[in-house]
Amino acid sequence: MRGLFACVLLVTGTIAGSSAFAQSSGTGPAGGPAKCDNPNALGVARTVEIDTTGGPGFGFEHFKQHDFLRNNEVLLTFDDGPWTTTPAVLKALADQCVKATFFVIGKHSTYYPEILKQVAAAGHTIGTHTWGHVDLTKKGMTVEHAKEEIEKGISAASLSLGAPVAPFFRFVSLKHPPELVTYLGERNIAIFSTDMDSFDFKARKPEQVVNAVMNKLKKHGKGIVLMHDFQHATAEGLPDLLAQLKAGGYKVVHMRAKGTVKTIAQYDEMLKKEAKLPTLDQRPTANVVRDVE
Ligand SMILES: [Zn+2]
Repeated sequence: MRGLFACVLLVTGTIAGSSAFAQSSGTGPAGGPAKCDNPNALGVARTVEIDTTGGPGFGFEHFKQHDFLRNNEVLLTFDDGPWTTTPAVLKALADQCVKATFFVIGKHSTYYPEILKQVAAAGHTIGTHTWGHVDLTKKGMTVEHAKEEIEKGISAASLSLGAPVAPFFRFVSLKHPPELVTYLGERNIAIFSTDMDSFDFKARKPEQVVNAVMNKLKKHGKGIVLMHDFQHATAEGLPDLLAQLKAGGYKVVHMRAKGTVKTIAQYDEMLKKEAKLPTLDQRPTANVVRDVE
């Protein structure tokens, strides 16, 4: 099935400002992210645009069809945010003028919509990672419930961001139920596994994350790296990891989607209903509650 979509990658040399996120509250001249002013930064070597028609899969742990990275190229991905640890990740990336892809949890995006907006404003790509971080292969999971997990994640991220997100999805624990892989294909949403799992959720110290990624890179030579902006050790270790990538001669590739994902109204409504009971009051708290003594 996926063979029909052999030519999904359009490699573009520059960031042309056509990103779905360029219009969100950026600080750069064209409303995009601020220009990088660190001349010694690691930087982004090239940006690729991905046509997600038919739901292509990436990451050689599970999908071997599309090998688009060259030797010494790495693509950084961060899962499970937005969280209070995310701003430190954003700062480390900004200091090195690096762009990454964030696979966010729907629920977390409703807790920290402002942090999600910071991710977009910095020019990173935002994909999704279910509504409540549920393993879609777990016992008793129905296809309908699994679709709800995927779609509510997309709806929540889009509503929290106030803009559409990329049609990029990563399954929880990299468990890929075949019928859901097909479903994402019908939704034209690309699936991202990984080439190198950092296992940073097991790391207690930042250097463990750095060493895990660098050792795997030395072995593989290139690839999509899976980390978690949700993890303290990763947030703390990222400056050192980026420095080591630069010292090792590695190049960072950024990816964007050709289009955005359209949410499904039924799931948008479901979320809005769950978010609040139908009170009519819309006033800010300061107008409702005041100090009287
Ligand atoms: Zn996760």
